[in-house]
Amino acid sequence: MTIKNVTVAGSGVLGSQIAFQAAFKGFNVTVYDINEDAINKAKDRIRGLRHAYKTDIAATDAEFEKGLANIGYSWDLQQAVSDADLVIEAIPERPDIKKDFYEKIAKFAPKEAIFTSNSSTLVPSMFMEDTGRPAQFLNMHFANQVWLNNTAEIMGSPKTDPAIYQEIVDFARNIGMIPIQLKKEQPGYILNSLLIPLLSAGEDLWVKGVADPQMIDRTWMAATGAPMGPFAILDVVGIRTAYNITLAEAQAHPEANTQPLADALKKLLDEGKLGMESGEGFYHYPNPEFKQKDFLSI
Ligand code: NAD
Repeated sequence: MTIKNVTVAGSGVLGSQIAFQAAFKGFNVTVYDINEDAINKAKDRIRGLRHAYKTDIAATDAEFEKGLANIGYSWDLQQAVSDADLVIEAIPERPDIKKDFYEKIAKFAPKEAIFTSNSSTLVPSMFMEDTGRPAQFLNMHFANQVWLNNTAEIMGSPKTDPAIYQEIVDFARNIGMIPIQLKKEQPGYILNSLLIPLLSAGEDLWVKGVADPQMIDRTWMAATGAPMGPFAILDVVGIRTAYNITLAEAQAHPEANTQPLADALKKLLDEGKLGMESGEGFYHYPNPEFKQKDFLSI
């Protein structure tokens, strides 16, 4: 099947970006969300991407307008998916909401339509039976700021048809993504399976007092040639997110002794050091210390 009509369901942070990126690359996109208010927000969000596309990837106004013209909007689910070749789901990360959504579109979408999920933490076998088409269902996981961080991690369930998997790999490439192909299900895909242990190990060294964040980052950068260490990455992720994850971990597994880390992150938050977004976290922005010439040559 040739994919032409793409419905993106959920037009929040990620859905609006995915929808515009597909439209920008020439696909016929329908944005679906639950009501008129959510759709109006989506329109604002999508229009608000103009500056980023112009400054980050040198898109012209004409190209941006062409992308906008490829998008239609709907808050009627049946209408939104009735003509879809591909439905990309980017709705809240709640199994109950996703399950209900798949049960509904199973009835409304054409029987040959492919469904993909942008879920960050839920594997496709959790929902494959709800879709009514397990062979045509898989995850395609984008990263925030899709036009810049252009990876799409592609992960099938044991029931995904390899030919459908390949179609999604091709689609990801056609919308400007680097298709990251996983051969089997893995919670956290490849990126977070690598990244989360690295960030946790850095935090652990810091909280135990083995070294300060700058020394830990310096080690990682000098020894591996990486452009950033774990604390520079934490500034991008945001200290609030790091704190929320740590707090949840401290509550769920008190024996893991993550409370000292939660306290250290809370102290940063109380000082207004939220990471890159507030201009200060472990480093100062827009010219963080780790990017300066002498950072590695102490
Ligand atoms: P968000 O909260 O910004 O947006 C969710 C959207 O879904 C909202 O517009 C909401 O109105 C809509 N929605 C709620 N219930 C719905 C329903 N039943 N049907 C259709 N739409 C519904 O969320 P987000 O951050 O864009 O995340 C969406 C998905 O993308 C999640 O699965 C998340 O794991 C994944 N994801 C998020 C990021 C990120 O950085 N935010 C990155 C990668 C993947």
